Parts: sequence; C-alpha cells; structure tokens
Amino acid sequence: MKYRFAGSSGLKVPELSLGLWHNFGTEADHSVATKILCSAFDHGITHFDLANNYGPAPGSAESRFGKILKEQLGSYRDELLISTKAGYTMWPGPYGDFGSRKYLLASCDQSLKRMGLEYVDIFYHHRPDPNTPLKETMGALATLVSQGKALYVGISNYHAKDAMKAKALLDEMGCPCVLNQVRYSILDRWTEEDNLLDAMDDKIGMICFSPLAQGLLTSRYLKGEVPSGSRASRNTSLQTKNITPELLEKLNNLNQIARGRSQTLSEMAISWLLKDERVTSVLIGASSVAQLEENLKAIKVDRPFSKDELAAIDSLTL
Ligand code: NDP
Repeated sequence: MKYRFAGSSGLKVPELSLGLWHNFGTEADHSVATKILCSAFDHGITHFDLANNYGPAPGSAESRFGKILKEQLGSYRDELLISTKAGYTMWPGPYGDFGSRKYLLASCDQSLKRMGLEYVDIFYHHRPDPNTPLKETMGALATLVSQGKALYVGISNYHAKDAMKAKALLDEMGCPCVLNQVRYSILDRWTEEDNLLDAMDDKIGMICFSPLAQGLLTSRYLKGEVPSGSRASRNTSLQTKNITPELLEKLNNLNQIARGRSQTLSEMAISWLLKDERVTSVLIGASSVAQLEENLKAIKVDRPFSKDELAAIDSLTL
C-alpha cells in the first residue's frame, strides 16, 4: 500500500480506503464482513470509514464494526485510522439531524459507544447545514478534538467556498481539519466544475467516495443484467431505472478503454482518480473479498494514462 498525506497535515492515509456504508448492516453476513475488513487490513488498507447512520438499520454498521474490532482487529487500534460522521437524519426530533452543536456532540458519544472506542481518528460533519451558523458546527468539531474524542476533523460534501470558510474557522480554533470527503468518479465530475481541488490547494486533502459509482464502474452491470444480491437489485441508493441503455453503452465503451490498458473497469476507475496527486485517497465499498482484491490491483500496478486515453474518457463522460 502507498500512503498520501491528508492535505498539509502529517496524517498519512492509504491510497485505497474502505467504507462501511453498505454491506455491514443488520442483514450482512458477519463472517463475510469480518473477512472483508481483515483482508483489507492485511493489504495495508488502514483506513475504515463509517457514519452514525450507516446500516441499515442506522447505527448497525458501527455496531458490527465494534464487534469485529473486539473479535479481531482491536489489538491493532494504533495501526487503524477510523472515521465517523454526523449530519444526516439519525434520530427523531429536532436534535438528530444536520449540524447543531447539540446533535454533533451527542452523536459522537453514541458512535463511540457503538464501536466500543474511546476516540475516533477523524470526525466529520457529514453535509453542510444551511440553517446552522458554520461557526457553531465547526465549534462542535473543535470541542470533540479538545475532549479527546476525535484526533482530527473533516467535512463532507462541502463545495469549495464553504470548505475554505470551514477550514479558516477551524484554523482559528486550532482544530486540525484534514479531509473533505466528496463524491468523485469518472461519471461524476461536480468537484471539477467547482474547482474544489484548486481551492483546497493541499490545505485540506480530498477523499473520494463512490469512486466506482456504486458498482456501475465495474463489470457488475456491463451485460445489462442486474445480478441478484447486487446493490442495484436492492433499488435503494442505486436505482435500476437509472441503468439506461445509454449508460450501459457508455460503461461498455469505458470498459474497452480499460481493456486497452490491461485493466478492469474498476481498476481503471480507481487509477483515474489517483492520477491526481492532490487526491488523498479513494474510498471504495466492497461486498466480497474478491471485489476488494480486484480493486487493490489498481494500486499494485502503476499504469499512467496517455493523453489519448484521458481524452477518450472525457469524450465519453463530459
Ligand atoms: P463504490 O463506488 O466503490 O461502490 C461500492 C460497490 O460497488 C460495492 O459495494 C459493490 O456493490 C460494487 N463493487 C465494488 N468493487 C467491485 C468489483 N471489483 N466488481 C464488481 N462490483 C464491485 O463506493 P460506495 O458507494 O460503496 O461508497 C464507498 C464509501 O464512501 C462508503 O462506504 C462510505 O464510507 C463513503 N460514502 C460517503 C458518503 C458521504 O456523504 N460522505 C456518501 C456515500 C458513500 P455490490 O453490492 O453490487 O456488490
């Protein structure tokens, strides 16, 4: 595994990180979940990303992660970089959503309890809150650091302007803001339109979520079928209605480019993100060890992109 510094901090993050949004909730197979996490760690994936609401049910991914820590990985705590977040709906009433101090401080306590941890390495504000002063939300993150419940903080889904305002506030409070966690893939380029990497200018690192577009940028759907057990088959965050003939044609054309590079589509999708040194880490999901191992190949063999390949990818996706 290779590691990159998170922004201008001294924190090293693996080029490939693993998220527990899906595949670790109540319905997950515990032995498969354990194997995925242990295999990831064995391959140098030291960073595991959670959030209060990951499941389903909300909270259950953190509980399962806590169980696996207790059973297998807990003795390696100082070798692990564990993050969690609050910002989306977690509990009923006015105090279980968005970005108030009341929500963030309570949620962090709940997350630590579910995971059986004394602290997380990174605590994120999960999404901007238009109705809470940014200073209040950032102040809550700074409090968590001063309480020793988080070592670093992050923001997630913040556009350039708000990210830099948040960073300035946290700097004033002496609070280390290391990462902005955003959706970025060959198929989703909003961060480029926002000039986010230029704006963050290495002051905050970028960790890219859904780099495989939830499985679209893999071999999973290329034949136009929705395999049983796949994310699309659950029709929740990835909807079958969005897998149109036009999208399938695009994915198959991208797959041809990947084959020309002796990569699978998922390997190319990961390499494509990591070609920019300012990207700190690519945050994947996996429902099996086989998927994880395929995706790790993108890191093991360095395959630079030619100008023609990049132009061909852009012509299909921009
Ligand atoms: P990906 O785009 O990597 O999608 C992962 C899914 O793609 C897997 O669960 C699997 O789905 C499929 N897949 C992965 N590898 C392969 C492969 N080699 N071959 C075939 N299929 C494959 O990322 P996610 O959307 O899961 O997001 C990753 C993480 O990012 C989350 O766990 C979370 O930590 C974070 N995140 C953060 C958000 C935020 O707002 N901050 C929002 C969303 C995610 P299948 O079930 O079909 O096998």
